[in-house]
Order: sequence, then C-alpha cells, then structure tokens
Amino acid sequence: MAAFGAFVTRSGDPAADPALRGGTPQRGAGGENGDVEPAPEPTTERFQPSVPRMLLRGLVRHCPRCGTGHLFTRWFRMVERCPGCGHRFRREEGFQLGAYVINFTLTEGLVCLVVGGYIVAAAANPDVAIWPVILAGVLASIVTPIAFFPFSRTIWAAVDLALTPLDLVEQAEAETALAAAAAAAAAAAAAAARSSGERGPEGRAP
Ligand SMILES: [Zn+2]
Repeated sequence: MAAFGAFVTRSGDPAADPALRGGTPQRGAGGENGDVEPAPEPTTERFQPSVPRMLLRGLVRHCPRCGTGHLFTRWFRMVERCPGCGHRFRREEGFQLGAYVINFTLTEGLVCLVVGGYIVAAAANPDVAIWPVILAGVLASIVTPIAFFPFSRTIWAAVDLALTPLDLVEQAEAETALAAAAAAAAAAAAAAARSSGERGPEGRAP
C-alpha cells in the first residue's frame, strides 16, 4: 500500500514531485566526469495506474497516465504532450479516429434514446406530438459531439493507453520531452530574471 500511497501523491500533483522533476536532471547535473547525460533510460514504467483509474482520469479530461489536467488550450485544441509526464497523446496517425468513434457512439445513442422514447410514448398514446422529439433529436445530434469532444479525446487516450501500454522508447521520449520542457522553462525564467535585473538599475539611473 505504500507504493499506492506514493502513486496517489505523484498523480495528485506531478509537477511537485521531486522524483518527477529532479530525478533525471540531477544525474546530468552531477557532472562528475564532465559528461552530459544523453537521455534517460527508464527500465520500468514509472506511471502504472490501474485501468479504472485511467478511465476515470479520461472522463474528467485529465492525462490517463499521470492525472495532470489542463490539457486543452481551447475547447477543440489538445496539447501534443502532457505537461505532467511528457506522454504524447497522438501516438500514431489516426489517433483521433478512436475519439471520433466514442463521440459518434454517444451521440447516436442519445438520438436512439429520443426516438425510442417517442416510440414507447406513441404506442401508449398515438396523439403524442412529434415536434418535441424532432427538436430533441436535432439538439442531441448537434450539441452532443461539440460538448463531448474533449472528453472523447481523453477517454480514448485512456483506452489506448490501457490497451497498449507505453513501450520503452515511448517512455524514454516522454522523459526526454519532459526534461526539455523543464530546461526551457528554467532558461526562460532565468532570462526573464536577468532581463528585469538589467533593466531595473538602468531605468532608475540618473
Ligand atoms: Zn501525464
């Protein structure tokens, strides 16, 4: 259970996990021999959530691998890689096809429910109005795919990850991308601090 507790902590806030942020860079930063660590080489998957947990994360638009949220810059625009674990969601061409099938199935299911409800109601009362049914069907077929779009992406990402866990190459790519993003963020922060430090005294100088 200790391992599970550690996992919960990591999934709750991956960015705050020292093992996630500092594990690889520390090895490279040690520099005992002046060598730069070329790339991390994971031997086992650090993120091993259960299938139900991955699906639950997908249902709330979070990364199925690490649980990080805020994966959409806009309603229809998903980030390429998870900012928490570096996982590349579009693992192969046609990734979005699975999300499309999920979205289509839900939409058609809702339309079938509406039509089925009308059939049941019409069987009991032949005079029941059909216009509300048509309106509900049209609304369901238009609104549902739009509203469910981001959820279908993350749910499919969870299904995809459950069906095909990351191989070692994908794990290494995720680690490398995460380290590169952290390095770029650190460099940007340092440049911003340096820039503000240079401007400050100059601006105030008589
Ligand atoms: Zn992630």
